[in-house]
Amino acid sequence: MRLVMLGPPGAGKGTQAGFLSERLGVPQISTGDIFREAVRQGGELGMKAREYLDRGELVPDQVVLEIVARRCLEPDCSQGFILDGFPRTLPQAEAFDAWLEERNLILDSVIEIDVPDEEIVRRLINRRSCPKCCTVYNLISNPPMKSGVCDVCGSNLVQRDDDTERMIRQRLRVYQKETQPLVEYYRKGGKLRVVQGNAPLQVVKENLLKVSLGELV
Ligand code: AMP
Repeated sequence: MRLVMLGPPGAGKGTQAGFLSERLGVPQISTGDIFREAVRQGGELGMKAREYLDRGELVPDQVVLEIVARRCLEPDCSQGFILDGFPRTLPQAEAFDAWLEERNLILDSVIEIDVPDEEIVRRLINRRSCPKCCTVYNLISNPPMKSGVCDVCGSNLVQRDDDTERMIRQRLRVYQKETQPLVEYYRKGGKLRVVQGNAPLQVVKENLLKVSLGELV
């Protein structure tokens, strides 16, 4: 099962990809998490990525492509993967298609989670996440049991540096310009499935599972 999760920042790609990963038994690959971890570690990749993350801009395609290609060849990806946050530009999508074709691999579906902009801003301002196990919370719709503490591993929750209103609007602009064209690209290729993300979490989860198993189109 090879899936791509498409949708603006805050659509719930990460949360839903995590859920699908558990249900389908294939790993979730989040390029955003990979870059944040690299920045935290402070190595060469982290230094390169940081300037883009800090500005809410996209890391150059070539850097992203190398990382994703390497990650998708790791043994845990032999039965598939769920890509969360990649591809994000047309050149990334085209290069990834070529990469898959060279290996006789097929992308099963691209699932777009559709959420209106104002809902995105409201969600992201209230988003908190665990720096250790990456569990994501929302202070309004999905708060942790104990304020500021991760239910799963007990670490202190943090707010992402790019989850301020100014940065959220900047990331939405980048999404519209660079990533929105992928919706048409995958629709033309017959891969696109759309799930409305502006519904209760449980409903979105159920629809996503059905779509990924081909039960809803
Ligand atoms: P995310 O957690 O998916 O919102 O990603 C956070 C940041 O990581 C983005 O704002 C970009 O700077 C960078 N990033 C993540 N995925 C990609 C990608 N596929 N292409 C370029 N930059 C990316």
